[in-house]
Amino acid sequence: MEKGSNLDALFWPKSVALIGASKKELSIGNVITKNLLRYGYKGQIYPVNPKADEIRGIVAYPTIFDVPGEVDLTHIVIPPPFVPQAVEDCGKKGVKAIIINTAGFKEMGSEGEALEKDFLARAEKYNLRIFGPNCQGIINTDPSIKAYCDFTFTYPDPGSISIVAQSGGVGAIIMQNFFDVGIGMRMYASNGNASDISIPEVIRYWGEDEGTRVIVLYVESLSDPEEFMEVTKEVITKKPILAMRAGYTKEGAKAATSHTGGLAGGIAIDIFFKKAGILAFKDVAELCQAAVAFSTQPIPKGKHVGMITNTGGPAIIATDELSMAGLKIPQISDKAKAVLKETMFPAASISNPVDVVATAGAPQFRSAIDVMMDEDHIDSIYINFVTPPFVDCESVAREFVEVNKQKKKPIVCNYMTDKSQWIETTKILKDGGIPCYDFPGIAAKALAALADYSELQSKDTGSAKCFDDVDKAKVKKIIKNGRSAGRELLTSSQVYNILESYRIPLAGWSVTKDADQAVKTAEKIGYPVVVKADSEMISHKSDMGGVAVNITDADELRKVIKNMINRIAIPGMKFLIQEFIPGGTELIIGANEEKGFGHLIMFGIGGIYVEVLKDVVFDLTPVTQIEAEEMLSSIKAAPILNGVRGEKGVYKKGIVEIIQRLSQLVTDFPEIKELDMNPLIVFEDKIVVVDGRISI
Ligand code: ADP
Ligand code: MG
Repeated sequence: MEKGSNLDALFWPKSVALIGASKKELSIGNVITKNLLRYGYKGQIYPVNPKADEIRGIVAYPTIFDVPGEVDLTHIVIPPPFVPQAVEDCGKKGVKAIIINTAGFKEMGSEGEALEKDFLARAEKYNLRIFGPNCQGIINTDPSIKAYCDFTFTYPDPGSISIVAQSGGVGAIIMQNFFDVGIGMRMYASNGNASDISIPEVIRYWGEDEGTRVIVLYVESLSDPEEFMEVTKEVITKKPILAMRAGYTKEGAKAATSHTGGLAGGIAIDIFFKKAGILAFKDVAELCQAAVAFSTQPIPKGKHVGMITNTGGPAIIATDELSMAGLKIPQISDKAKAVLKETMFPAASISNPVDVVATAGAPQFRSAIDVMMDEDHIDSIYINFVTPPFVDCESVAREFVEVNKQKKKPIVCNYMTDKSQWIETTKILKDGGIPCYDFPGIAAKALAALADYSELQSKDTGSAKCFDDVDKAKVKKIIKNGRSAGRELLTSSQVYNILESYRIPLAGWSVTKDADQAVKTAEKIGYPVVVKADSEMISHKSDMGGVAVNITDADELRKVIKNMINRIAIPGMKFLIQEFIPGGTELIIGANEEKGFGHLIMFGIGGIYVEVLKDVVFDLTPVTQIEAEEMLSSIKAAPILNGVRGEKGVYKKGIVEIIQRLSQLVTDFPEIKELDMNPLIVFEDKIVVVDGRISI
C-alpha cells in the first residue's frame, strides 16, 4: 500500500494477523481477538504466538511466515524493542498495513524515538503503511466487513458518523455516547503517535467513503496544518466535519510575554478550524448531540426557525436558547395563519411558535409542520413534543417521520416522555431519523449548530491584499542587524523604522541620547512633545515613570529628562521624543507567532488597561479586508468605533488597512515572534501609532 494510495487494507482488511496475540484474558492481544470475534469480523483472523496452538479457539501460528493465507492487516502488540523486526517480517510476508498498538516510542524520549525511526525505515522499504504506534486502532461497522481492529469496549451499530481521534480516550467517549443515545457509527480511527498514516489522510479517505455522512474529529495538535487545511477544505465540500477543541490553552499563554501572546491563550486552533470550514465545539457532549442532528438532517439555508409545541414552558426555554445562539423565530405569513385557523383546535395559538395544545393529534401536528415547510422564510423546524396519555402519539410520530423523508428543512425534536412506556413512539422516531433530545435547550443547541455550520460554509472572506508600496529590503536589513547584535527585542528606532517601511502611520519621532539633543529634536518635531525612556531593559515604560506627555517647552523638557534619569538609573538609557497626540481613542493591534499556523493578529481597545478590559479579538494570517472589518465589528466596544451619543465614528478604514499591512509584514517576516502596537490613537479621520514593540 503506497503512500497517498487509499487506506483500503486498513479499513477493509480481508484478513487480520495479530503478532502478540495472547491467551491471557486481560492482555491487549487477547482483547483484540475477542473483539474481532464478538463483533462478527467477516475476514480471516490469524493469531501469531510461538507458544500457543490456539487463542480463543482460533488456530495460532508461531510466526507470521507460518500464516497460510495473505495478510492485509497486522496488529503488533509486542514490547517496543521487538517491533522493528516484526515490521520487517511483515514486509517480507507481504502484509499491506500494520496497526502498532504497543506504546513506548517517540512519546517516551530518545530511545523510543530511535525505535520508531527504525520501524518506519523498514516499513518504507516494503511500501508498508503504519497506523500508530501507541494507539487503539480502527473499527469499520459496515455489515459486509465488521472489522473491529481495536481494543475498546463499545460495539457500535452501523451508522453514518465516522470518528477520528488523536486521543483514544476522547474517541471512546464519543463512540460510547453515540451508542448510549442509540445512534450508529460508520468508522472509527485513533492513531496515537501518527508516525505514518495521519489524521488528514484518514479524513481524505472518509471524504470518499459514501457511507460516511459526517466526520467527527478530535485533535490536540496539528503536525502539518497546511496539509490539514488543504484536505479539510476539499472534504468539507462533500460532508460536514465537526471538531472537539481542547488541550492547548495554558501553555501558549504562559510562554508569551507580549500583550498579544498573553491574551491569545490557545485560540489559534479555533480560528484555524473556522477558516477551514470546520465547526468546533468546546464541549464533547454538545458535539455528540449536534452530530446526531448532522447525521440525519439537511443543512438549513439560514437562521430562521419555525417552532411547533404542545406545551408552553419548554417553548419558552427553547426560544431563549435559540435566541442566545443567534437564531430567530420570525412571524409566519397571513396565508399560513389562515391555514392553521382551519386545522388547529380552537385553543391553539396561531403564530410562531405554534402552540398546537396538548390535545393535538396527528392531523394538527402534520398541518403545523406542513405550514412551516411551506413558509419560504423559515429555514428549520423545532418541535417540542411531550407525550400526552390521551393522544395517539404513535400516529403523531409517524407524521414527523413522513415529513422528515422530504429532507427539505432540518427538524429537531425535544422529546419529553417516559421511554420505557412510549416504546413504540420512541422507536418510530429513532428509526425515522428524527433527532430527539431530552431537554429543550439541548435540542436548541443542536439546531443552532446546524445553522452555524450553514453560515460557516456560505462565508466568503475574499483573499488577502498585497500592498506593493512596502520596503521589504529595509525590514530585512533591520532584522538582520538585530539578529547579529544578538537582540530578541528590537530597539525602538528599529521598531519604528520597520513600521514605517510597511507604511503604518506613526506619530513624529526621534531617539536622542541626552537633554541637549532632545531639546533640538523637540523644536524640529514641534511642541508639545512626549518623552519616553528608551532602553531594551524596559518593557512597559509607564510602569516605571518612563513616559511624560504634553511637554510644552525646553525648560520643562530638561526637567523631565533629569527626573527620569534620577528615577530610572539604567546606563546608556536614551530618550524618545515624540509628537504629542492629545485626545482620540486608544487601540491595540498586535501579532503573535503560532507555530505552524502563521501569526495570530489581535485587535482591540488598547492603552494601559488592555489586560484589564480584555476587549480584543483575533484572527490568523493572512487577514483579508473582510476579516479585518469583521474584527472591528466583533469587539465589545464596536459601537464606540461607530460613534455613540452624537459622537462621530473613528477612521475604521485606516484601522482595517493597518491590520492588513501588519498581516503582510509578519507573513513576509515569519521571524517576527511578537509585535505589539499599543496604543494606536485613532480619530475621526486619522490614526497614528505612538508605541511599538517587536521581538524576533
Ligand atoms: P508603555 O506602553 O511602555 O507604558 P506608551 O508609549 O504606550 O508606554 O505610553 C503609555 C501611555 O501614554 C499611552 O497608552 C498613551 O495613553 C500615552 N501616550 C504615549 N505616547 C503618547 C503620545 N505620543 N501622545 C499622546 N499620548 C501618548
Ligand atoms: Mg504602550
